[in-house]
Formats: sequence, C-alpha cells, structure tokens
Amino acid sequence: MRPVRHLGVFAALGLSLLAAPGSNDPWQAQRNRMVEKQIELRDVTHPATLAAMRKVPRHLFVPAEFRREAYNDHPLPIGHDQTISQPYIVACMTEQIAPAKETRVLEIGTGSGYQAAVLAEICAEVFTIEIIPELANQAATVLRQLGYKNVHTRTGDGWKGWPEAAPFDAIIVTAAADTIPPPLLDQRKDGGRMIIPLGPKAGAQDLVLVTKPGGKVHPRPLIPVRFVPFVRERK
Ligand code: SAH
Repeated sequence: MRPVRHLGVFAALGLSLLAAPGSNDPWQAQRNRMVEKQIELRDVTHPATLAAMRKVPRHLFVPAEFRREAYNDHPLPIGHDQTISQPYIVACMTEQIAPAKETRVLEIGTGSGYQAAVLAEICAEVFTIEIIPELANQAATVLRQLGYKNVHTRTGDGWKGWPEAAPFDAIIVTAAADTIPPPLLDQRKDGGRMIIPLGPKAGAQDLVLVTKPGGKVHPRPLIPVRFVPFVRERK
C-alpha cells in the first residue's frame, strides 16, 4: 500500500488523481459515510447530487487545520469570518434547484468554492461571485487545480448578479439577505429556480425556494437555517 503521507502530499497539491476510479483515496470512505448518514438518511434523493457529494474532495476546500473535520456534520470556518456550509445544506440546496447536464447556474457567495464544485459536477456551467477578494482568489485556485473548467469566478458584489451571462436556469445564494435582490430575480429564465436564505443577520432565517412560473415570483420557505450575512459593497 502507498504510504498515507504521500497521498497527503498529493491532496495538498490539489491533484484530482485521488478521485480517479479505483484509486486508493483515503477520504473516499469518509465521503461515502457522509452521504449515507448525513444526507441520504435525512431526505436528499436526487442521484446526481448524491454522486457529486460522493466525488468532490471537500477536504481540499477547507483550511489545513480543519481538514480532518471536513466530512463532519457541521459548517467550518474558512477565514475572514466566513464558513463553508454543512454538507447536508449544500446537498439540500443543490437538489432544490434541480440541476441537470444542460443547466447554467449562478452562485452568489463562492466562499471556499465547494458548492461551486458540487454544481460543476452536475451542470453545464457555473458562474460564481464572491465579495471578499482573498476568498475569491483562493477558491479560483483550488477549482483550477482540481480541473473544473466549467466554473467562472468573479470578485464583486453579487447583489447585481452577472448580467452578461444571464439568464440563468437556476440561482443559488449562500449568504443570508433580508430581501431577494431584484437584479437576481430578473436574471432567471422563466421557470428558473432560486434558492436563498432569507432573514435577519443573527436570528431566524429560512431557506426559501423561489420559483417563477409564468414570470410570477413564488417564494416557499423550506427549512430554518443560519447563514453568514449577505453584505453590500461599500461605495
Ligand atoms: N458557498 C460557499 C459558502 C459561502 S459562505 C461554500 O461552498 O464554501 C457565504 C459567502 O458569501 C462568504 O464567502 C461571503 O463573503 C459571501 N458574500 C456575502 N455577501 C456577498 C455579496 N454581496 N456578493 C458576493 N458574495 C457575498
């Protein structure tokens, strides 16, 4: 057997070799367990979402000191007072936007880049915006090292969306806002889904699914959540 130490070096370099079928990825068992116990046992059934959660090396998206906790059932700090969401929340949000091979999706709040990678496994193209430049750069680096060519990253205020790439089949917002940013509503296709945590900064937020049948907005609260706040760019 290859020494674990060497595999660790490969992982640190962000090489996706470890995910290759038949490889000896020491993290694979942890990912399988995470999907089985935290995600399938709750309520997520969408096969492509489950497959993506089994595949994406979440440990490469968290700071080195938290790597051993990467597959645990909770969020983790990623620096700059921000967090990578709990695995179940990532899976739940992914399933709710009903992603498929031809889907073009916009994510607001790149953070670690993990949610973008999960979406990239399923969708045609992922556009993701992060307001903190250091996090945006770090996420872009990891995503590039892992070979995700269908993720487009941008630094800036996601309130405005990404008009040049709109309209999107789906939009996923991973920071809590008190209202739905109107530009995002306009950047969805008719029938497009948006998922967004809505509510006050500290306190009761709901994960809300917004559908747009016939151009009309239909928000539906799904579960109570706790996300970091959606912030606006200072002028
Ligand atoms: N999806 C992320 C979780 C990110 S936490 C992951 O998989 O790791 C939410 C992120 O939203 C933070 O990184 C925060 O900086 C970012 N954010 C907050 N307000 C924003 C805004 N107006 N535009 C873009 N990103 C924003």
